[in-house]
Amino acid sequence: MKNPNLHQQVDSRRTFAIISHPDAGKTTITEQLLLFGGAIRQAGTVKGKKTGNFAKSDWMEIEKQRGISVTSSVMQFDYQDKRVNILDTPGHEDFSEDTYRTLMAVDSAVMVIDSAKGIEAQTKKLFQVVKKRGIPIFTFINKLDRDGREPLELLEELEDLLNIESYPMNWPIGMGKGMEGLYDIFNDRVELYRPENYDGERLVALDANGELPATHKLTENSVYHQVLEEVELLKEAGDEFDVDKITRGEQTPVFFGSALTNFGVQTFLETFLQFAPAPHSHPTVDGQEVSPYEEEFSGFVFKIQANMNPAHRDRIAFVRICSGTFERGMDVNLQRTGKKTKLSNVTQFMADARENIEEAVAGDIIGVYDTGTYQIGDTLTEGKLKVEYEELPSFTPELFMKVTAKNVMKQKSFHKGIYQLVQEGAIQLYKTYLADEYIIGAVGQLQFEVFQYRMLNEYNSEVIMTPMGNKIARWIDPEDLDERMSSSRNILAKDRFDQPLFLFENQFAERWFTEKYPEVKLKTLL
Ligand code: GDP
Repeated sequence: MKNPNLHQQVDSRRTFAIISHPDAGKTTITEQLLLFGGAIRQAGTVKGKKTGNFAKSDWMEIEKQRGISVTSSVMQFDYQDKRVNILDTPGHEDFSEDTYRTLMAVDSAVMVIDSAKGIEAQTKKLFQVVKKRGIPIFTFINKLDRDGREPLELLEELEDLLNIESYPMNWPIGMGKGMEGLYDIFNDRVELYRPENYDGERLVALDANGELPATHKLTENSVYHQVLEEVELLKEAGDEFDVDKITRGEQTPVFFGSALTNFGVQTFLETFLQFAPAPHSHPTVDGQEVSPYEEEFSGFVFKIQANMNPAHRDRIAFVRICSGTFERGMDVNLQRTGKKTKLSNVTQFMADARENIEEAVAGDIIGVYDTGTYQIGDTLTEGKLKVEYEELPSFTPELFMKVTAKNVMKQKSFHKGIYQLVQEGAIQLYKTYLADEYIIGAVGQLQFEVFQYRMLNEYNSEVIMTPMGNKIARWIDPEDLDERMSSSRNILAKDRFDQPLFLFENQFAERWFTEKYPEVKLKTLL
């Protein structure tokens, strides 16, 4: 046996991403988690890195500066007997298709919501991608130390807007200045925010009736009695805690807390680690599955990060390990080309520099230095294992630009660059249906910037991009196509597989279309 501990090591892995709208508190909670894991020593360490422009997110720089390999992309730490991998999904200026693809490489997701704002646009988009995968989603409703919306209202919004059952794991006893604690429904205890005001203990067990000991000072607080009533109501009318539903992503356990004051975060972490799944089998293109306990190494590339430093052309391919054990210097087969490559120049993402781990197993992420060998979605396998993992989905872009080469004499490098970057998944390419003008599509603005930069630096092609703004892209069946359907409110285009689609100006234009052509079915990608 190659790695006698494989089974146990795989079972200890928890690989997840945090999804949220900008400012909900993802960075703050990530830091608290890293602190619990001993991976950083001081809050504020993760914070600094998102203030600069994207060139600064060069993880090697960050690694050098801190002397520890905390990277923006993958953060790994140990907590109790678990090894935790947090995959970053930038919700900010870095938002791109990479963000979505990262969600293809995790086993669960944590959704952070601002208690004053509720479900916001970006959260909703990311949630939908996660929901489609049917993986567990845990919810942390943050900023309880500020006055936010009523907890019941927030739960209702979760169910209405996201169409997912929720189960409150705890319930706030006051918020804002009146934040006294959390009634921990799941663990039958109260977690006090200001224990020194009461009996000194932070965690107080509840009696058989679900109440604090009658002598406890908090029982004099009227909010506490209101909470008892609300919890009673939740128990009678709410959904039951259902592990199977959680595992299938049909129910989300909801935790209230405050990341900034580190209140409720540890309870959240411990419960999350208990119920979040370890890596499981991963589907292949031919409908099979590969077990994470399979001895031979395998994995897929879910993200390629181009180095923005002009002096270096290298890139890093992020590989999610799906089975077996990675060992430095091992030979693997790249299934797409059938070629062998050596995994020697590889980065692992251990947040604590003291541990020099030379091994990674299913569930872990490794960063492979790449000089142009890999593409998004590539499968790497070891030895006799011959599998190809399911293709990564394409995502419906929302932003579009017309693009042309500045120098008409350089059409060749322009085309080469575009087609390679499209293949790599950096950008999506469309053409207007009749005139064959190039349109590129993206889910985030950053993708255009990276595209322009890489066209110039890697293909020596200066491009002119003309913004078309937000559009709603909807595919139709080729047999439904009638060119007269195109009007001033929509653009008829084709994708790189020559499939027809409309780019609608806005929702009104889309609705107008569906009313005029009720028989034509409009479809989205993921
Ligand atoms: P991100 O954009 O989701 O990563 O959000 P950040 O973690 O950067 O937080 C955005 C802002 O909200 C920062 O000013 C944080 O200090 C603040 N913040 C985060 N968590 C809390 C919280 O629990 N309570 C309060 N009052 N502020 C918070």
